[in-house]
Amino acid sequence: MKRLICILCPKGCHLEIDEKQGYKVSGNGCPRGEQYGKREVIAPVRTLTSTVKVVDALHSRCPVKTDSAIPRKLILKAMRLLDNVQLQAPVHCGDIVIENVFDSGANIIATRDLDKVS
Ligand code: SF4
Repeated sequence: MKRLICILCPKGCHLEIDEKQGYKVSGNGCPRGEQYGKREVIAPVRTLTSTVKVVDALHSRCPVKTDSAIPRKLILKAMRLLDNVQLQAPVHCGDIVIENVFDSGANIIATRDLDKVS
């Protein structure tokens, strides 16, 4: 039996997920909690947020994130990949930094504009 708190709304229902009963979810106040609880136990996903190096900009790092959630098991691998990324200013919010990271279907995108400075 796994126990976790649903984070999909402020109610914060305490979920119990029974792996021995086909991942039956109890304690959820709505159907979204059932889906969330199952996914968290079977195949959890997360949105990755981080920063990467950028040159010729006012700041030395640019914030980035995945444009959709990726499997949690890929997060560390993706972070290591970002260690070797260096952007060149100008950078625009929404620019794709890494496309389809590890075939997850998600892109890692810049989340701010950084102008080029001379
Ligand atoms: S189960 Fe439904 S009501 Fe409960 S916290 Fe999750 S989203 Fe909110």
